Amino acid sequence: MTTRRLFLAYTASLAAIPSLGRGQSASSSPKFQANPFSLGVASGDPDHHSVVLWTKLAPEPLIPGGGVPPQAIEVTWEISLDDQFKKILQKGTALATPQLGHSVHVTPEGLPADSWFFYRFQVADHTSAVGRTRTMPAEGAKVDSLKIAVASCQNFEQGLFTAYAQMKVDAPDLVFHLGDYIYEYASGRNGKIRAHLGPEILSLHDYRIRYAQYRSDPHLAAMHAACPWLVTWDDHEVDNNYADAVSEQKGVSVTELLIRRANAYQVYYEMMPLRESSLPYGPRMDLYRRASFGNLAEFHILDTRQYRTDQPNGDGRDPLNDAARNPKNTLLGETQRNWLFNGLLKSHATWNILPQQVMMGTQGHLSKNGDPKYSMDSWSGYLAERECLMRFFADRKVLNPIVLTGDVHVHWAHDLRIDDLKPEGPVVATEYVTTSISSGGNGVDAWGSIDQFKAANPGVKYHNARRGYLLCTITPEVYRTDYMTVDQVTKEGGITTKAATLVTENGYPGALAG
Ligand code: FE
Ligand code: CA
Repeated sequence: MTTRRLFLAYTASLAAIPSLGRGQSASSSPKFQANPFSLGVASGDPDHHSVVLWTKLAPEPLIPGGGVPPQAIEVTWEISLDDQFKKILQKGTALATPQLGHSVHVTPEGLPADSWFFYRFQVADHTSAVGRTRTMPAEGAKVDSLKIAVASCQNFEQGLFTAYAQMKVDAPDLVFHLGDYIYEYASGRNGKIRAHLGPEILSLHDYRIRYAQYRSDPHLAAMHAACPWLVTWDDHEVDNNYADAVSEQKGVSVTELLIRRANAYQVYYEMMPLRESSLPYGPRMDLYRRASFGNLAEFHILDTRQYRTDQPNGDGRDPLNDAARNPKNTLLGETQRNWLFNGLLKSHATWNILPQQVMMGTQGHLSKNGDPKYSMDSWSGYLAERECLMRFFADRKVLNPIVLTGDVHVHWAHDLRIDDLKPEGPVVATEYVTTSISSGGNGVDAWGSIDQFKAANPGVKYHNARRGYLLCTITPEVYRTDYMTVDQVTKEGGITTKAATLVTENGYPGALAG
């Protein structure tokens, strides 16, 4: 990182310290030469009576400042039972401030539970696209079914976000995004399908422009408008494989990474439909949180990046040695781990679902001399904490733990055991891993036969190396995962179909052919 680039990033981060004081007044709305709602609308983090509605003013989203004058601007919002806005439930105004990139986050409360709504925004004489969103069922309410989509890893240069077109047709109630929503790399590093703008991103403006570029994908924007999303990040929202304040890149100091992280976290907040409780404070941001869908599902959404210890063994692929088993290694950090355990104990939901980032199944890659090696960036580098979590699931009789994972750009299913390499032990949880939306290009149906994988990794139950997402249909009896795959992402018109279905039955951890 050059000193000049770092200096720019630092001054930008200072200039952007949010100051949402009551004295701040909105100037009369400026005239916009182009559509200020070019980045669309989104919603997220619903509970049983409220939901976050999001937009951002940016008539010229790919230039610093987005083409908006540096002043606070009043934006009107409406939420309605019908898409013609004849049955408006609530309306109001919100300030889009330059400090937060003219993003708008409003959270209407007192909405009816378990209901769908339409919403839109207005500024000057412009009206946004109409978004559709929903609330969760009342706390503890008896619920018959829930459909969720699970996505991760969308490298803009390596492929189109075509998979979201079929996801929209599938009409899930909620979308979970498990990270690598953007990639931070310089233009041209990853592919030629579409080019990132500019060098590796560091400053607030860099991150804002990068997110705007990603959100310009029409399929991604349309899916954000279709239903609420619950998002969490992985590494590429900041810097490849960073661990808390440690960069994986050589020669980057803790201070440099934290300055960059403050910029990255702020823009993540600006661009995502997150509650104000996630507003960052410098390089810190509270992203782990819970969501409930009646008595059917409790989601414990994790952040395995911000609080982790540095990857052991120099963050490579290694055997499960003493460094990987060091009990001091943590992905969650003590506070989040206690929060998770506490929430798992209190939950009365039929399914306890952990949307998170890195692979929990202990899965070895066969090396040239035949000894399996394991990714130290995944739970395999944090084996003691993994075992602690598995024992907690088993000993405390946590109801139906389901782990949802991204990161690896491949569809997998895993039976999770206290020690995955000892197949004689009982299965205590099930992991469904989603492939990427676009990262890695078209991919292939399989890297090898399922029997090959099972020989080294007894917990593996499914494998597919194409692009796509998971579509999960959850009922009191069965957790069903449809593995959706796209035939190609390098050209328009890719076709998304169901490659396989696996199920977990209530009371019986593990994935079965559906
Ligand atoms: Fe990725
Ligand atoms: Ca990743």
